[in-house]
Formats: sequence, C-alpha cells, structure tokens
Amino acid sequence: MEKLLLVKYSEIFLKGLNRPWFLNLLLTRIREAVKGLEAKAWLSDSRVYVSGYTDEAAVIEKLVKVFGVHSVCPAIEMEKDDFSLLEKEAVSLMKDIKGTFKVNARRSDKNYPLESPAINARIGAAILKQCPDLSVDVKNPDHILNVEIRKKAYMYVKVIPAVGGMPVGSNGKACLLLSGGIDSPVAGYMLARRGVSLCAVHYYSFPYTGERSKEKVLTLAKQLRNYCGAFKLYIVPFTNIQMEIHQHCPDEYTTLIMRRFMMRIADRIAEKDGATALITGESIGQVASQTMEALACTDAVAQRPVFRPLIGFDKEHIIKIAKEIDTYETSCLPYEDCCTVFTPRHPVTKPKLEKAELAEKGLDVETLIQEAVNNVDVIEI
Ligand code: ATP
Ligand code: MG
Repeated sequence: MEKLLLVKYSEIFLKGLNRPWFLNLLLTRIREAVKGLEAKAWLSDSRVYVSGYTDEAAVIEKLVKVFGVHSVCPAIEMEKDDFSLLEKEAVSLMKDIKGTFKVNARRSDKNYPLESPAINARIGAAILKQCPDLSVDVKNPDHILNVEIRKKAYMYVKVIPAVGGMPVGSNGKACLLLSGGIDSPVAGYMLARRGVSLCAVHYYSFPYTGERSKEKVLTLAKQLRNYCGAFKLYIVPFTNIQMEIHQHCPDEYTTLIMRRFMMRIADRIAEKDGATALITGESIGQVASQTMEALACTDAVAQRPVFRPLIGFDKEHIIKIAKEIDTYETSCLPYEDCCTVFTPRHPVTKPKLEKAELAEKGLDVETLIQEAVNNVDVIEI
C-alpha cells in the first residue's frame, strides 16, 4: 500500500487527439510547481499521480494552484488481485468517518473479475460490518469512497477542489499591462487560467513615481508567478511621454492619449516577445478612460486584439478575486502610479477618434515610442 496524490484535470478531458499533448504540458507545470518538495509526478493511464513527498500539505497547496488541475485526491494505491486487501484498506480509510456513505467503483481494467456493482456491494458490506458509525445512502451520501481499478487499485474519499482552467502555455501568449492597481493582476490571472502564457509591461514615471511603486509592481508580478509560472516584466520609462503630452495636447485628452501610448508600446514589446494579444484590467465605465468611446479610441492604435477579461465585472467582484489570489493587499499599498501623475481635472468621457488623432498631431509619436522601447528594463520574474 502506498500513499499518493491523484490529480484530476479539468477541461483537458474535452480534447480529442490533442489530449496527450495537453496532459504532458500539465505534467510539466505540475513538476515545476512541486519542485523542491521531493515529490515525483508521472502520467499513467491518462492520469497524473504525485508521490514520494514528505510534506503532503505543502504539495497539495502547490497543486491546487496549477491551472488545468480540477481537484487533488489523497489516495492509496495497492495491488488489485487480492480482493480481501481492498476490503481491508477500505475499512481503514473509513473507520474514523461518521455519517452516511456509498462506494463508487470504476473499472478501467475491463478484465477485472468483479464488475463495478459487485465491487460496490462487497466493499460496502465490509465497511458496514466494521464501522458502526456509518450507514449507506446511495442517493445523497455524506462521503463517497471512490475505488478505481486500473493497472493497480486506488481508493480515496477526500476530493480537494483546485483552480481549474488549462495548463499555462496551451493557449498562446499575451502581454499584460500591469499597473500597481487591483484590476490588472486579476486580468492577467484570468487569461493565464485559460492557458495563456504571459509577459508584462509596466510604465513608470520617475521621479514622480518612486522606487517603492516599482517594488510594489515587482511584488505583484511575483504573486502572479505562483499561478502563471516565470515570465518577463518590461519596465518602461514613461515620464518623457507624459511631459510631452502634457505640454502639447489639450488637457481633456491627455489621459486618453497617454493610454494610446501605453497600447502602442505594449504592442511593440509584444511583437518582440512573441505575444499575439494584449491584456488590460479595464472594466466598462470604471473611469473616464474606460467608457465605450474611450475604449474604442485606445483600441484603434493596437495592432493586436486587446483582451479585457474584467470588462463586465463590478469592482466588488474584482476585489473578491484579488483577495483569493493574494494580490489585494499589495495592490492597496498607497504608492503613486503613473496614471495619477498629470491627471486632467476634466477628462473627456465621450472622446472622438478624430479629435484624439488631431490632438496627437503636435507629438512625434514614433520617436517617443522608440525612445521608450529602447530604454526598457527587462526583469525575469
Ligand atoms: P488597475 O486597473 O490595475 O486597478 P488602475 O485602476 O489604477 O489599476 P486604470 O487607470 O484603471 O488602472 O488603468 C486601466 C488599465 O490600464 C490597467 O488595468 C492596466 O492594464 C493598464 N495600466 C494602467 N496603468 C498602467 C501602468 N502604469 N503600467 C502598465 N499598465 C497600466
Ligand atoms: Mg482599473
């Protein structure tokens, strides 16, 4: 008898011919996650198993955060030929449990001499005989003892829910515009959860935004890394662009124009990094730059699709997710962001694209972009 963790995957089961590729990617992500915990992970029979660890709780904590993992089941593995061994192990698994139960057997080895209903009946009877605190309820049991007959036999009761989604790297790569706020880390998390690899850009306006706001973004990036794996963070100097906008563009359009620059620069960085989309934390109507009209004006300069996974979310809902993924506290640290520097008193809420373009006429857009891109700092997170 060996203790191990049986890892159930989520949507990968929908995949047909690609399934082995997805499973191998999931296995890679799992191995990265449990690195340093003396655990070994392997695939057998379209299942991922993890064993060999000393600290089970620590391994589980890592596994439930791996995108693509549906749930983690602490299980026991045993030889399947001697049925009395199965009965004995079932009893020892259930002996401290109270309430109602049922046995749920599944046989992927169709040559096994007992069929599932017979396995259920025999193991159920053995448990009833030895565990006086348990009774059977097949419709709505408190506990389910799962018995799987594969190359070996497996049993588990506890099913620990995990994060779900798809393994990172299974759905391309996108460039996240990462501010120090609450929304953008959540937006990155949501796309990564769908299997998208990330790179990220952050605009900073030294000396208006200081070291501490840069540190804050680094902390957020590291927190995201727990879910999406290692990625590159591009820190882009933005002060000069903001000064130019401030000096040469009508006040009410400065925020919008600044956002158009963010998109253009992110596009260039995405191009170099092999990312085919951009991600922002925008949500409709949240601020003046996130009205329908303003979003259309920022989209107009992007060469790539811009994903805004939070577009229909209320702030309250976004905060809830930020708390779940542990970025909320960091996001709330009160350091300046470049967006709060030079904010106009009355930003336009229904901008017109022609007006935005006209307002930019006084700027040497290409030179400003080049200058920013040439002075990027790349940090491996
Ligand atoms: P967040 O949206 O992350 O809470 P915020 O609300 O302060 O931060 P907004 O002004 O709402 O930021 O900006 C909308 C989006 O633009 C952000 O979600 C982020 O994707 C991007 N963005 C804003 N500021 C920056 C920045 N300094 N660097 C990179 N991206 C930024
Ligand atoms: Mg926001």
